[in-house]
Amino acid sequence: MEKKNNQLVFQDIENRSRNGAFIYGAAWFLISFGTGFIDTAPVVFYSILSGFVILGAGRLLITQLRAKTKLIPFKFWVASIYISAVVPALMTSILFSLSFVNPLFEPMFNYLLMTLFAIISGGLVNFSPRSDLSYTYLTALVTPPFITSAFFSTSHYLEGAMLVTYGLFMMALSRRLGQEYEQRVRQQIELERINNQDSLTGVSNRRAFDYRFAQEWKTQVQAKAPLSLLVIDIDFFKNINDTFGHAAGDEVIKQTANEIACVFKRQSDDVARIGGEEFAVIVPNTAHYLVVQLAEKIRRKVEKAPIEFDDEHLSVEVSIGVATCIPKEETTTELLFKHADSCLYKAKNTGRNRVIAEEIV
Ligand code: GH3
Ligand code: MG
Ligand code: MG
Repeated sequence: MEKKNNQLVFQDIENRSRNGAFIYGAAWFLISFGTGFIDTAPVVFYSILSGFVILGAGRLLITQLRAKTKLIPFKFWVASIYISAVVPALMTSILFSLSFVNPLFEPMFNYLLMTLFAIISGGLVNFSPRSDLSYTYLTALVTPPFITSAFFSTSHYLEGAMLVTYGLFMMALSRRLGQEYEQRVRQQIELERINNQDSLTGVSNRRAFDYRFAQEWKTQVQAKAPLSLLVIDIDFFKNINDTFGHAAGDEVIKQTANEIACVFKRQSDDVARIGGEEFAVIVPNTAHYLVVQLAEKIRRKVEKAPIEFDDEHLSVEVSIGVATCIPKEETTTELLFKHADSCLYKAKNTGRNRVIAEEIV
């Protein structure tokens, strides 16, 4: 979960700062062109320009490669985001520092100052989801000019001091933005959970089940691999409600969901409550006979373990319909659902507390 969140945060940073990849090169070109630096020091100009372009293009390339081929490990990708954020910022602030003390760079002073203030603000918005990244970025931007103005320059104290003040102010703002971002992500995750989870049992709800079933169907069409569906219904549940009350009924639903979830523990299996006392389980990539064995295991488990409620031992039984097929493009999830449901119907009509299964060929 943590890794997934991190992945989302860095993807977001990547999306936000993508346009910034070429801003340094563009600003450098404009300033050098405008001040005549291209003619006075072409080698320096082109070397620095190549540095900016390589850093920007390199990161875009790594992101593309990661999206398309999965060849780029997560850590390498994150490192590329850090490097392409911090190194050009550091290069720009060093160039600005040089304009304090080196006559070759002096004509660029005003323009680099404007650039620096602009990228401080831009970077703040882009990198605020990760405070370590935004602090490193801001530090890279303000440290060289600060040191240069304080120790090596005779006339630029004020600019150095202003830049540091502004940088510190931006750090405080970035902290605030980062906290707000984190809160938003947390709310989004919570909202997703509420949307997809059945509140009584904690397993998936009908909405999540429908979505997941359709997704899994598509995946298995591609993979030409089996997909099974179990439909599980508690027998004579109405009696439990009528005899022991609705709260007892709720407890039975909860415990039964628990027992089903304990049998289907694989990440790819999905247990859902699809109706009052009715559950469904999606099981991909498993041979039919194995799924039937698991269904039988649930049936026995429920039968053997009475549910305790208010000093009462409530015996519960379930009927289960199981269907397995290899999904085809021209059919839909409905086919599998219909077959599993009709197996359940047969189980109900032939005495309940049993598993009826069918492999669709
Ligand atoms: P069968 O063996 O044929 O499945 O019989 P049954 O009594 O289980 O089936 P029926 O569909 O007649 O009854 C289901 C009952 O489940 C009816 C409804 O009042 C109850 N029910 C539906 N949702 C909930 C719920 O969230 N909590 C409780 N306690 N009862 C519920
Ligand atoms: Mg029932
Ligand atoms: Mg029912």
